[in-house]
Amino acid sequence: SAELAMYEAKADGRDSLRFFNADMQDQVHQRAELASAIYRALENDEFTLWYQPQYDAQGKILGMESLVRWEHPVKGVIMPGVFIPASEANGLILRLGNRILFKACTQLAAWSTHPLLGGLTVAVNVSASQLHNDAFVDDVCRILDETGANANLLELELTETLLVRNVEEAIVKMGRLRERGVRFSLDDFGTGYSSMNYLKRLPLEKLKIDRSFVRDLLTDPNDAAIVRTIVALGESLGLAVIAEGVETAAQRDMLATSGCCLYQGYLFSHPVPAAELEAGMTHTP
Ligand code: C2E
Ligand code: MG
Ligand code: MG
Ligand code: MG
Repeated sequence: SAELAMYEAKADGRDSLRFFNADMQDQVHQRAELASAIYRALENDEFTLWYQPQYDAQGKILGMESLVRWEHPVKGVIMPGVFIPASEANGLILRLGNRILFKACTQLAAWSTHPLLGGLTVAVNVSASQLHNDAFVDDVCRILDETGANANLLELELTETLLVRNVEEAIVKMGRLRERGVRFSLDDFGTGYSSMNYLKRLPLEKLKIDRSFVRDLLTDPNDAAIVRTIVALGESLGLAVIAEGVETAAQRDMLATSGCCLYQGYLFSHPVPAAELEAGMTHTP
């Protein structure tokens, strides 16, 4: 295909006069291999979404975050850290991102009649390059229409890297989707570049405290101070604050003491395939 040919042309360096040493050649080769493999995986529909629930202080599930997995026929489950950054670099993230949104919205629509999962939000991670793509707003609206998913239950997770590029454009696009009912959260919060000025202008509902601040919460007083600051920021801007990567009861208690009462992490549940989540839900009294 034309898309694949373009990656190959780039990969063998015909578009530059740069001199490649053996190592660089090797890296370029590996990158091209991964790009073709991702391309094939899209064709073969090997990407699936797993779901990790999010909880309130009473232990009630409020919604879940979808996390993409590559279920490779030979290599088994491949984690997003392996193929998301690569897809961002080679442009395949636009196709992969739309596939992910389609799957998440299809699941959201299917769950709408489920006695326990109906009405819960589904969060989808969106790369900055997806948001900055011209077709993004139309793509999301079309996918909502096609799947019949309730836009009010769709939450898009963005990272602060979106603020590095055109902020004004991001604000307009987010506003249009917000009008359609879609909500936004800021992922990995505290690791990026947000200025207070941007934060108050973005149509956000939620801040997600990056798990790096949760990890050493009990031993590093700076992390505890950062958590309290993010909670206070959320309160003053009218945003919900959720902690990611909560692994121990002690971390949860410390978060609660710091005023953070929404949680996501291995303490509660690992990300699981949709069927496993459904099976787990039916056991809840
Ligand atoms: P993220 O959006 O910040 O997702 C949270 C990551 O933390 C997930 O890793 C999740 O499995 C992991 N996690 C959850 N609870 C815990 C915990 O208690 N302890 C620890 N150590 N980790 C926990 P995962 O699934 O490997 O995803 C990594 C990143 O890849 C995500 O970070 C997100 O940036 C990206 N990603 C995942 N799915 C998608 C997707 O569908 N689209 C895009 N564009 N990016 C995605
Ligand atoms: Mg996320
Ligand atoms: Mg995160
Ligand atoms: Mg992350």
